[in-house]
Amino acid sequence: MEQQSQGTTVKGTGVVAGIAYAPAVWIRPRPELPQSGQNIAEENRDAEFERFTNAADTVAARLDERASRAEGPAAEVLTATAGMVRDRGWRKTVRRNVKGGHPADFAVVSATDKFVTMFEQAGGIMAERTTDLKDIRDRVIAELRGEPEPGLPSVDGPSVLFADDLSPADTATLDTDQFVALVTELGGPTSHTAIIARQLNLPCIVAIGAKLRDLPADEPVLVDGSMGTVAIGADPEESQRMVADYQAKAEKVAQWRGPAQTKDGHRVQLLANVQDGNAARLAADTEAEGVGLFRTELCFLSATEEPSVEEQADIYEKVLRAFPHSKVVVRSLDAGSDKPVAFANMKEEENPALGVRGLRIARDNEALLTRQLDAIAMASERLGRDEHAPTWVMAPMVATTREAKWFAGLCRERNLIAGAMIEVPAAALMADKIMPHLDFVSIGTNDLTQYTMAADRMSPQLAYLTDPWQPAVLRLIQQTCNEGKATGTPVGVCGEAAADPHLACVLTGLGVDSLSCASTAIAGVGAQLAAVDLILCQKAAVAALSAESAPEAREAVRGILGA
Ligand code: PEP
Ligand code: MG
Repeated sequence: MEQQSQGTTVKGTGVVAGIAYAPAVWIRPRPELPQSGQNIAEENRDAEFERFTNAADTVAARLDERASRAEGPAAEVLTATAGMVRDRGWRKTVRRNVKGGHPADFAVVSATDKFVTMFEQAGGIMAERTTDLKDIRDRVIAELRGEPEPGLPSVDGPSVLFADDLSPADTATLDTDQFVALVTELGGPTSHTAIIARQLNLPCIVAIGAKLRDLPADEPVLVDGSMGTVAIGADPEESQRMVADYQAKAEKVAQWRGPAQTKDGHRVQLLANVQDGNAARLAADTEAEGVGLFRTELCFLSATEEPSVEEQADIYEKVLRAFPHSKVVVRSLDAGSDKPVAFANMKEEENPALGVRGLRIARDNEALLTRQLDAIAMASERLGRDEHAPTWVMAPMVATTREAKWFAGLCRERNLIAGAMIEVPAAALMADKIMPHLDFVSIGTNDLTQYTMAADRMSPQLAYLTDPWQPAVLRLIQQTCNEGKATGTPVGVCGEAAADPHLACVLTGLGVDSLSCASTAIAGVGAQLAAVDLILCQKAAVAALSAESAPEAREAVRGILGA
């Protein structure tokens, strides 16, 4: 905790930018969990299981009803949560526990624990889904006891919502007129809370830890989602002014219209990152000029078997269809590490982030990759895509020239435009050798930062290292851009760095041709680029490259570009 003249400031990981000033409220507590179960007499066990079934059905129906009132991804999250309450495997485990003599509430706790352990062992994104499981457990237990459903408090004015971790169902139905910012003790930048907060455009900070646990309800707090800070005891007038300034800026940003260019007309292609057809359709409603990163592995996180080429083509077609007249960059499966895909990742590894992930999977299983490339080519052909609506394909985790050459060969056999992600430092260092084999590259700053700084991107403790403003990372980007110019290879950036308006200017100054980010970040980046000349972007790039640290780079660029 930092003690400041105006009060106390606590730092977490900011995941959605924005400034809010309002009293704090805490989410309604979860029900007490039973520690052990007394025996239910044999003749009452069927009735006990029926009691559970009724409670679970009621909870599922309530979630369905909320889903019918929501839209888009929020509705999908609620439907998915209702689906978990109906999950046969989970219900069967509860049944087995009740048949063994446990009362329904304890049977639910122990069945959920079993699934939580399984998800935690799977790690990464799966581990983040344990919040969903604990959420349905608590809802069903409250229903069994006739208690009100745990969840959002009712408030009588704008409030900042604090929670240990928010359930997806609660995040999905947050009323943004009532809740003006979100702060969670747990969670990571890829957790459901973060994803939905981004969709709602609600300032959000995750992983703040237990430092604010004693914060009294109704205490006014100043939340800065881009800095990741919560200030207590901040001057009310100054805070209100900051909120008003931010809102005025946000309104101006919303007016921005593409295509993206600097004030003096230097064009930068601004593209969207998507994970399915729905996200692509949402992106098509923004000023995005196409898709710069389609993360295909996210379509298959819960698939147990590899979909057929036709089934895959159907999925890819939905994304291509959203951008019938523009470029779509499809990434081949980046399975592994924090995104395990059951049919692609076979072996347990000690160090999955440094293991067989991304393109490396195809070394021992080339057919998995060629089937995916066949499916991408099939989807593209079905829609008659051509040079006016090109389908580009890139491989994740390319580390050597040989890998790049091999992947490009497989793409060209299928008339696909071939590229590679530059996200392993070796690829940036060898860009002069790798690029001649490719049609384009796209820099993945999330992994490039993780591997350059030797710091796990999922670790809340190492967030100070996994910061794309690290000058070491920017130097590798500079080298990649220089080689892109020398070899005539288009260079894009599709990591989270592209979503940060100031960093987007630095990247433009370094010479990147395209930026790809979450749909909600498009207007902010476009508006910032429109406000500065290319020469200022270049000056910002020089300042960031010569800084000693990430905070120093950020500050220097803020000084050059203005707040
Ligand atoms: C990256 O590493 O920057 C990237 C865009 O890929 P992902 O975040 O999916 O690993
Ligand atoms: Mg990556």
